[in-house]
Amino acid sequence: MEGIILVVATRNSGKSKEIKNFFQGYPVEVKDLNDFGPIPEVQEDGRTFEENAYKKASFTAKVLGLPALADDSGLEVESLKGEPGVYSARYAGEKASDAMNNAKLLEALAGKKDRNARFSCVLSLAVPLGQALTYEATCEGVILESPRGTNGFGYDPLFLYPPMGKTFAEMTLEEKSRVSHRGKALQELKDEFEKVLKWIQIRLTEEKKLRGMGEEMCHH
Ligand code: IMP
Repeated sequence: MEGIILVVATRNSGKSKEIKNFFQGYPVEVKDLNDFGPIPEVQEDGRTFEENAYKKASFTAKVLGLPALADDSGLEVESLKGEPGVYSARYAGEKASDAMNNAKLLEALAGKKDRNARFSCVLSLAVPLGQALTYEATCEGVILESPRGTNGFGYDPLFLYPPMGKTFAEMTLEEKSRVSHRGKALQELKDEFEKVLKWIQIRLTEEKKLRGMGEEMCHH
């Protein structure tokens, strides 16, 4: 089978690192947006992780003419009625840093007993014509009162994963990937990867044919 290029539709280097690491040893060349120079930004204005994941994946696939994989993910806290949810990246404001978001989360949870939370991840793998496959997974945990650990990104230092007694930021990349929302969603994708590769090949061949027809029409 011809080598396939898969573009990870993110500029978040934490996400990109986890996804690239996952595809090691697989017959795909994984690139990310930083390999392509400036591309217009997608509006992440969907109401669900799924909507946003599909938006990012299909937009990137169309713009670059390559299959693209997007992750939309976030933290949902029970006692905050599911917040920050789809706003996780910009909880403390449009250009908020991870530290600012973490501080805002601790403030919102100050004095609250129920600190149960879950991470959700939706992966969308789209081809240039727009068809897509979707995978999703969650990971349950507890929000600590102060950060622990320095690995990872985002809310990792505050997110305790009780079965291991560690926060995500205290885990190695491999440990986190085995149990995390993103790791589990990626595993689902990998479990049927041969089928996925065939699916991509067929969609890309369809696209080529359509393009050929378009060119012929122009010549007439
Ligand atoms: P997105 O780019 O809109 O999907 O934003 C996802 C945001 O959710 C990130 O910026 C983080 O704040 C948070 N998030 C998602 N996955 C993780 C994770 O694995 N660890 C920590 N924070 C995460």
